[in-house]
Amino acid sequence: MKVLVINAGSSSLKYQVIDMDNEQMLCKGLVERIGDSTRSNICHEKVGMDKKKSVQPIMDHTEALRCVLSVLVDREYGVISDVSEISAVGHRVLHSGEDFTESVVINDEVIAICKKNAVLGPLHMPANISCIESCKEVMPGTPMVAVFDTGFHLTMPQYAYMYAIPYEDYEKLKIRKYGFHGTSHKFVSGVAREYLGEENSARIITCHLGNGSSLAAVKDGKCIDTSMGLTPLEGLVMGTRSGDVDPAVVEFMANSKKKTASEVLTILNKESGFLGIAGESDFREITRMAGEGNERAQLALEMFGYRVRKYIGSYYLALGGLDCLVFTGGIGENSAIGRAEVMKGLETIGIEFDYKKNQKFDRAAVVEMSKPNSKVKVLVIPTNEELVIARDAVRLTTK
Ligand code: AMP
Repeated sequence: MKVLVINAGSSSLKYQVIDMDNEQMLCKGLVERIGDSTRSNICHEKVGMDKKKSVQPIMDHTEALRCVLSVLVDREYGVISDVSEISAVGHRVLHSGEDFTESVVINDEVIAICKKNAVLGPLHMPANISCIESCKEVMPGTPMVAVFDTGFHLTMPQYAYMYAIPYEDYEKLKIRKYGFHGTSHKFVSGVAREYLGEENSARIITCHLGNGSSLAAVKDGKCIDTSMGLTPLEGLVMGTRSGDVDPAVVEFMANSKKKTASEVLTILNKESGFLGIAGESDFREITRMAGEGNERAQLALEMFGYRVRKYIGSYYLALGGLDCLVFTGGIGENSAIGRAEVMKGLETIGIEFDYKKNQKFDRAAVVEMSKPNSKVKVLVIPTNEELVIARDAVRLTTK
């Protein structure tokens, strides 16, 4: 059974086709700069072949989807001979609001609820909905499933997800913490539980550290707290996002810089984090510059590690101790410097980190990065959000 996984951003569309008989990816690709007639392009990669990039006008997500389907049936680069070979489509949808605690088969009612919740994710939700509607049009009859980025976090207790603002603003406007990267936190915490056994993994902190970063506290497989909030802006220091700031900064910046609140939020989302502190958003650049003695890059690195540690400390108490800490995401999986920066001083909570192994290790489904007698296990687990989406698509459409 072949599943098409779609992950739409405001001007991009990522896709994969996965053969769910053996959970192997057959191809993946990215449509970028949708809406920019001269620079929009599709970059497709069939497993075992070189990437194929073609620049062509792609004006909206429906056109993007048509491009994807046509490359999927291409004689040379394709992986199916007819679109009907796709048994189900799994859509990554940013925001569930409070409506879906689980993935769901998409029907008109689900689409209507997603439209109602679009206000909670104004950049991504319109693209997610438009891809769903395009699929409905272009692949009528193929079942579709929505997998929500917020879904895994909806088990948080109310005292953890509430902001201390007037209660009616929560009731009427649904302003609260939701959290994101849910499929990733779900996947890696699930792998950790399988690896360590449930009795040795009751209390896990998952660190998804990438361009966007978040932590989750997972108790007995369920999320009890997470660092992102109503939007992905809250929490850690990220590539271009500030993470936690005093909300009063918004008015202060707006008045001082003669900007609107929305312009200030653009600064906090797109011009802050590593980029704001050190002029580069990419973590590899930050570590390279820090290594060459650039003080701003060193500061960005320290701020990043310190903020992650502060969250680890608070989740340690929220969980009542810790059995396992998991690193994942582009930085968490690949950057020895990033992991070491986070680990500074964590011996106090029973983590004996193996700094030597951290420097030199071979990627695998699970790598143990703590010393053998460490009370808390530290694991590096490559995330696979597409597989979570494809698994849910199979589970819900073959029932
Ligand atoms: P993601 O958003 O999960 O794709 O992660 C992107 C981030 O991971 C970027 O900041 C990259 O610089 C960082 N990253 C990816 N590969 C490496 C690597 N080998 N070493 C250090 N950082 C990396």
